[in-house]
Amino acid sequence: DFDRELKVLVVGNGGVGKTSMIRRFAKGIYTDEYKKTIGVDFLEKALFVDELQEEVRFMLWDTAGQEEFDAITRTYYRGAGAAVIAFSTTDRASFDAVAMWKSKVEAECGEIAVALVQNKVDLVDQAVVSATEVETLARKLGLKLYRTCVKEGINVTEVFVYLAELNQRK
Ligand code: GDP
Repeated sequence: DFDRELKVLVVGNGGVGKTSMIRRFAKGIYTDEYKKTIGVDFLEKALFVDELQEEVRFMLWDTAGQEEFDAITRTYYRGAGAAVIAFSTTDRASFDAVAMWKSKVEAECGEIAVALVQNKVDLVDQAVVSATEVETLARKLGLKLYRTCVKEGINVTEVFVYLAELNQRK
């Protein structure tokens, strides 16, 4: 039985919910005050993807804010087949950084499967980006947009299933 293995990067500014997203998807849990380990951390999750009729082993990498160290960055990006670019509904700088994150992923990994994720949609009343702005950026960058609430576990699995499908098509 040859399962497919897919290394997925989760990138974006600090505080947007990257660690929470990985833990939510891989372990099904959410905590507000999770203590991060320093350096690169990864979790594994096996999921049968109906659309592929195959089990995919997702290797989920989280840099825990250590992206500024080149040696760590290289290890982190090496062999990735897909990437999530995440920003937060309540953090304008994280939205403004999306294009930079896409360039960085392309520079390190080439043309891999990428999805744009707007997290913390439960905080829509504190939104600092409009729905139109987000949709315009997604279109401009050629990325499929997912709106997630990692806190409530909304739309999270869908992101990873999409990336597995897109990765196979590439
Ligand atoms: P990272 O720095 O990008 O890895 O972000 P974290 O995963 O550490 O999350 C930063 C903070 O945002 C934490 O307090 C999380 O509990 C919180 N958070 C993550 N996802 C959501 C969400 O969907 N809604 C809300 N309200 N908070 C979230």
